[in-house]
Amino acid sequence: MIVLGIESSCDETGIALYDTEKGLLSHALYSQIALHAEYGGVVPELASRDHIRRIVPLLEQAFGEASVVPGDVGAIAYTQGPGLAGALLVGSSVASSIGMALGKPLVGVHHLEGHLLSPLLAEKPPVFPFVALLVSGGHTQLMKVEGVGRYELLGETLDDAAGEAFDKSAKLLGLAYPGGPEISKLAEAGRPGIFRLPRPMLHSRDLNFSFSGLKTAVLTTLGKEKTRENGQTKADIACAFVDAIVEVLATKCLAALRQTKLDQLVVAGGVGANRQLRDALGRMAAQKHFRVFYPELEFCTDNGAMIAFAGAMRLKQDPGAAHYDYGFTVRPRWPLEELAAG
Ligand code: ATP
Ligand code: MG
Ligand code: FE
Repeated sequence: MIVLGIESSCDETGIALYDTEKGLLSHALYSQIALHAEYGGVVPELASRDHIRRIVPLLEQAFGEASVVPGDVGAIAYTQGPGLAGALLVGSSVASSIGMALGKPLVGVHHLEGHLLSPLLAEKPPVFPFVALLVSGGHTQLMKVEGVGRYELLGETLDDAAGEAFDKSAKLLGLAYPGGPEISKLAEAGRPGIFRLPRPMLHSRDLNFSFSGLKTAVLTTLGKEKTRENGQTKADIACAFVDAIVEVLATKCLAALRQTKLDQLVVAGGVGANRQLRDALGRMAAQKHFRVFYPELEFCTDNGAMIAFAGAMRLKQDPGAAHYDYGFTVRPRWPLEELAAG
């Protein structure tokens, strides 16, 4: 069966066609990064309007590249939440309209389940059960994943998400939005050990995180140095920031693997694209004998492929998840633990 996937929870419009036999047929993505850059963050109303502008051309592109006609689609998966309400409504109303026109069922997908399952789309996928580190713009969670819909929350951030910490610290350093990739690049020019920032909750004996203090530490270090214009100092601070956040993330991943006695770690979400984090986890995996899996780089941040895939997985496990209720509801807030296995 071919599943059409639609993602519109935040500032990326993503469309994909996934065939349960042949795999991913096509995917098309438009990122609104440039639109929001001048505001230093996502403006919800602008995001909704731009989803409306982009979604139909992207649908045409995805169908064209896959050489599939709408009548070939067996079900439509769309991001039902969590995310920005107005942005979610665009994807869900388009999904409902297509479903109604074709007489095909819908399946509402949890955005984080999309991120969580995205490494299964890779060439060398992990097998259940595994530990997942979900590090995105809005979330930082460690989960034990036993199967589709069988997620146990092991720990999460008590304040800022990892991606948020990257973005806010980058902003303090005067870098462009979204700051994650920028601060990571700048850190490469930094000298390790010039500054040392705190490792929040490193020894908290649980699997929770806290990143808001790290951003404050970046601010005070910058203030003390009074060298906002000094490129090398900024690079040194970026390097100290990345070292601190990567050490905390990697240490807690190892603790989660030990606690669950599992030996596969999956890293999903935008921060999973971070090179320093990948290097650190790679070194740790070799030393401590576990394996680490990532989605393809292009599927780390938001995309339609992960939604089509998660929808297909859901339908395989629980055909009852498909529905013909074309009235649409979105869930801007939706705890992942509330998902049933079906
Ligand atoms: P959520 O999925 O929690 O709703 P989101 O969809 O906005 O949030 P993603 O698209 O998964 O999050 O990821 C975006 C985040 O990833 C941003 O905070 C961005 O700065 C960060 N990010 C992307 N690439 C990198 C990188 N190379 N290094 C560090 N952070 C990165
Ligand atoms: Mg985004
Ligand atoms: Fe996301």
